Amino acid sequence: MSATYDVINPATEELHTTIGQLDLEQTDAAIAHGAKAFTTWREVAPGDRAKMLRAFATKVSEHREELAQIEIANSGHTLGNALWEADNVANVLNYYSAAPERLFGRQIPVPGGIDFTIKEPLGVVGVIVPWNFPMPIASWGFAPALAAGNTVVLKPAELTPLSAIRLGELALEAGIPEHVFQVLPGRGSVVGNRFVTHPSVRKVVFTGSTEVGKGIMRGCADQVKRVTLELGGKSANVIFADADVEKAAASAPGAVFDNAGQDCCARSRILVEKSVFDKFMAHFETAVKAFRVEDPRLATADMGPLISQKQFDSVSEYVGENVAFTGSKPDGKGYWMAPTVLTPKNTKDRAWNEEIFGPVVSVMPFDNEADAIAKANDTEFGLSGSIWTRDTGRALRVSRGIETGNLSVNSNSSVRYWTPFGGFKQSGLGRELGPDAVDAFTEVKNVFISSAE
Ligand code: NAP
Ligand code: MG
Repeated sequence: MSATYDVINPATEELHTTIGQLDLEQTDAAIAHGAKAFTTWREVAPGDRAKMLRAFATKVSEHREELAQIEIANSGHTLGNALWEADNVANVLNYYSAAPERLFGRQIPVPGGIDFTIKEPLGVVGVIVPWNFPMPIASWGFAPALAAGNTVVLKPAELTPLSAIRLGELALEAGIPEHVFQVLPGRGSVVGNRFVTHPSVRKVVFTGSTEVGKGIMRGCADQVKRVTLELGGKSANVIFADADVEKAAASAPGAVFDNAGQDCCARSRILVEKSVFDKFMAHFETAVKAFRVEDPRLATADMGPLISQKQFDSVSEYVGENVAFTGSKPDGKGYWMAPTVLTPKNTKDRAWNEEIFGPVVSVMPFDNEADAIAKANDTEFGLSGSIWTRDTGRALRVSRGIETGNLSVNSNSSVRYWTPFGGFKQSGLGRELGPDAVDAFTEVKNVFISSAE
């Protein structure tokens, strides 16, 4: 290991542990190991690959408490969230463990013989993960990639490597062969960039900022390398006058302040129909003040600290005289910020337009359905969003009108591992999760067999 990295507990600012980071040479060696392991992993019988993925899922479930505690100490996630995240990894592994035995091609009628398609694995897949949801985002890449017969090199974010390192160990304990799934802690500019430039890495799965994602896409073009991008968001939570306004207001804090707002799906713009704006704000204020920002180890915690001092400083820049009200936060050490509600006066406001990635939300009124759709779409992002209405026709019209990848009606949920997840416009490229994710880790081969004598 060429360098080390000090992992800081964001709730206490104390040194948690120090880990080694890979340099370029070690990264190349790992990629070479992954390429060699691919030649045997792809040949493992589908049923055996399925069993190994299920064994991996079981290991993760057995270690859910331990994994959750790792995430709490490294990332400041609340206990409830961290357990959900560990369970999500197990669920995603179980879901894609069904894929190896169902990786069907097609038989296509043609003259003069028989024609069929095969879904071939790609080779080594590089997964680059951000710091906001270290476990789930990693598994959305590695589980379908492994299921399709690829080997995986995974680079966790520098700030949050610990749960990924543990998942790498659990994979080995579960019987996944050596070098099939390797976790490579290190810098984005070293390890992550090498996934882009190394010819043996056949696909890059990147989740993170739009800016870095664009660079990855540019870099991948050199080798026509496959790429999936999950980038930023500035999602709208649209509340119509005919909705259950109290319910919408009660759940709006969770839709944006969950994970301290460090969520690409955060509903960080709330649009409320003018006639119920004051009613919404009154109920929303009550809910924000009741949102519990406290020691993330507590089962009652709704929100923990931000990930780092740097993130705290960057989020703080958006907060000024535009504050309508705030929630609370603990005193003392840690990167704590109170949930903050802004009421910008117009759509040019920086806070209204930029992905803040912290516990800051902007609320604005709208006039009618067309105005709501126009305001929701007035952004280069398009990741998720919510619509609150009791009118089914309106729910359908607005769902079709908003340019975004993941919408919820009368709910704020974004992620279900059974359904596709990804962004419109500059929020990303490609889809993860759901029934088709394995296709993103295979290449279609067409074979024609002549029946001529
Ligand atoms: P980031 O800088 O885009 O980093 C994401 C991942 O890419 C990290 O593992 C990072 O490694 C790696 N990376 C950085 N530069 C790279 C390069 N040149 N080549 C290959 N890999 C590279 O995102 P971040 O620093 O985690 O967060 C910054 C901002 O991105 C946030 O404030 C937020 O706006 C956005 N974000 C969005 C999402 C989302 O899910 N949509 C998630 C996280 C962040 P290092 O950790 O070593 O830099
Ligand atoms: Mg960064």
